[in-house]
Amino acid sequence: MQESKVNINRIHSLYESLVKRHTSLDSTFHTILNEGMKAFNLSLGIISQIDGDSYALLAVSPEGKDLSAGQVFELKNTYCHRVVSEKKIISIEHAGSDPDFNTHPVYIGMKLESYISAPIWIREKVWGTLNFSSTQIKEVSFSKDDHEFISLMADGIGSLIEMNLLSVEKEDVISALSKNNDILESIFENSTIGMALVSPSGQWVKVNNSLTHMLGYTEDYLLSINFQNITHPDDLTLDLQQLDSLAQGNIPFYQLEKRYLTASENYIWILLSVSLVREDNGDVKYYIAQIQSIDERKKMEMELKNQKEALHEANIILERMATEDTLTEIANRRKFMLWFESEMTRLERHPVPISVALADIDFFKSYNDDYGHQEGDFALKSIAKKLSHTLRGQDKIARFGGEEFILLFPETDEKGCLLVCEKLRKSVESLSTLKRTVTISIGGVTYYPKEGVIVHFDDLLKVADSKLYEAKRSGRNQVKVVNLAVYQD
Ligand code: GH3
Ligand code: MG
Ligand code: MG
Repeated sequence: MQESKVNINRIHSLYESLVKRHTSLDSTFHTILNEGMKAFNLSLGIISQIDGDSYALLAVSPEGKDLSAGQVFELKNTYCHRVVSEKKIISIEHAGSDPDFNTHPVYIGMKLESYISAPIWIREKVWGTLNFSSTQIKEVSFSKDDHEFISLMADGIGSLIEMNLLSVEKEDVISALSKNNDILESIFENSTIGMALVSPSGQWVKVNNSLTHMLGYTEDYLLSINFQNITHPDDLTLDLQQLDSLAQGNIPFYQLEKRYLTASENYIWILLSVSLVREDNGDVKYYIAQIQSIDERKKMEMELKNQKEALHEANIILERMATEDTLTEIANRRKFMLWFESEMTRLERHPVPISVALADIDFFKSYNDDYGHQEGDFALKSIAKKLSHTLRGQDKIARFGGEEFILLFPETDEKGCLLVCEKLRKSVESLSTLKRTVTISIGGVTYYPKEGVIVHFDDLLKVADSKLYEAKRSGRNQVKVVNLAVYQD
């Protein structure tokens, strides 16, 4: 009965000393030491901090000349050495009679007879010790309750110190955070790139100088509108789609070239990079936008694009001019020669007959004389068009000069040539859009490739021309075709 009363009193006083938070850590330590000294009936109480081989006195009761807080000893020269190495409570009532203790430097130096000590655990490590001692021999042995009590006291001290450490660490974290915040703030303010925080609805929440400078608005005005207000209508849909993907978590960030309306009411091109910060519940807290002006670059790109397009157009015209007859818009002589060369190359691999013909408008001088040069031009164009449309797919026609056309008929023998030329002749004769019926005469030549024989264009032209002359002489509006081999014989 008596013993349990003692225990309750001990726990009560320990609780009192631990929960009295308004006092300093140091005075709490002293209260605990005094309670322990009373409880164990020992004259010296110490709280130590162990750091490697050193044993520092954190609190001593009573403080004296020989021992006071702040002193540091070698751990191995203290009774606590065993507490630290064995990581358990050690107690002795009469050190002088114990061979483990009576040769110890502390016993030799201080004649400490009775001693009880418990490790103070912090974060799973022995951080220090709580110990009580006396030069008096202890008559009553340390009990299990004594061990339990010193263990409770050591745990209480451990908790207090840990709380203290945590609050110091918290302050460190807060100070580091505030430093980081200062750094971020300074990056934000001094960045040469426009930066902004934007609310989930698009409202500007925070903007830096570079951005207001770039857009020409005051900070107050910008913060009163949303980004949608100044985004070019053509760029808005894509921007909102990307923003949605970002909010959904489908993409970690996005970049977009878009246009903003500036205070001077013109659009400038910017490169936008957007990421976001979320609330703890995952909702979007705000978007972080980086905005870089690319107006100069964009203008140059557009200028370049326009120039390229103009150049492309010019090239098409040049190409046409080089290969097309401007009046009739059919191929010119140069283009015809390219066709002819490529057809001759093809013949080397695939020797089949080929025909060439010259067509000349009959009495065209008189047509010009009767209806004027302009009507003459119109007739020329109409005839060119008619001939082109009457040709078969593989055949070619070009204006050869004046009112003459030259024709190429691949894979066509004399008979085929005659047939197609007749068709052409009739098609012109039947033209009803001219001032009067106009006819053409055609002279053609067919060439059958012979191995080892090279035929030149001029050879064919000469024969076609003579056949044309023959057609003219025989009364015009007719076709004359000959086989080159027969002609040369
Ligand atoms: P022939 O039946 O013998 O061929 O008689 P022709 O009058 O057609 O022959 P000639 O060589 O005497 O005259 C050709 C005429 O073609 C002369 C010229 O006025 C006309 N001509 C040539 N090129 C053009 C052109 O580009 N436009 C116009 N309107 N007439 C042209
Ligand atoms: Mg002529
Ligand atoms: Mg003529």
